[in-house]
Amino acid sequence: MIEHLSSSQMNLYLQCSLKYRFRYVDKIPVPFKPSGLAFGSAIHSTLSWFHKERKNGNKVTLDDFLRLFDTDWYSQRADAEIRYKSGEDEAKLTVIAKEILALYYHQEHNGVADSEIPFVVPLVNPSNGDSLGLNLEGFIDLIEKDDTIVEFKTSNQTYNQKNVDDNLQLTAYSYAYEMLYQKPPKRLEVVNFVKTKKPKMIILKTKRDMSDYQRFFSLACQVLKGIQSQIFYPRPSFWCKDCEYGKHCKAWDVN
Ligand code: SF4
Repeated sequence: MIEHLSSSQMNLYLQCSLKYRFRYVDKIPVPFKPSGLAFGSAIHSTLSWFHKERKNGNKVTLDDFLRLFDTDWYSQRADAEIRYKSGEDEAKLTVIAKEILALYYHQEHNGVADSEIPFVVPLVNPSNGDSLGLNLEGFIDLIEKDDTIVEFKTSNQTYNQKNVDDNLQLTAYSYAYEMLYQKPPKRLEVVNFVKTKKPKMIILKTKRDMSDYQRFFSLACQVLKGIQSQIFYPRPSFWCKDCEYGKHCKAWDVN
């Protein structure tokens, strides 16, 4: 029985419905955490703390900022076994994280309205008001005082404009923002931290409108139908190399 949907659930179902089943239906404990996921979570926790301090008017030194990352990175590693990609290790990722965070620290910042904002909003068809009968849930990384929604992404490859224009998560956040505040966000911004040898920070901007919300609603309907009809099957792709459920996937049988 599904009680709510999130954009990450939708993304996972569309990426590989069998992996969705292992994670959300069977709730199989994962034997390891891919390094990219652990790294991204540590960066997100550090940024969330930084924004909360700034919102409260507290000055944060670069030293404090980077030290906080050490703590967040440590808790990620203490929490689960991390599986590193070839050529990667804990020390290399620590250096990359600190370069990335220093880039962000030194850029110009707008005022923080709030960070790590949880939302639960009804999923409604914007063209006729029909409800899907369940809520959309999630967290918005950052809302700035000028009504800009900011999402942080760590990746190995640089995001391009098409990536952010098509990004389902940003559509979900924009939709949730309009439901919560009864006005559109000024813009959507992705801060992309790229884990190249020389780490870089790219900022991309995008917007959403009613036609995007309509498409999002239609997609949510189809994903929900698939989940309720128990349509789950393997979809091999380059994501498989990081999949925590490889063993279960090999043993999968529709019976
Ligand atoms: S190994 Fe690949 S196909 Fe199998 S569940 Fe994981 S992502 Fe899906």
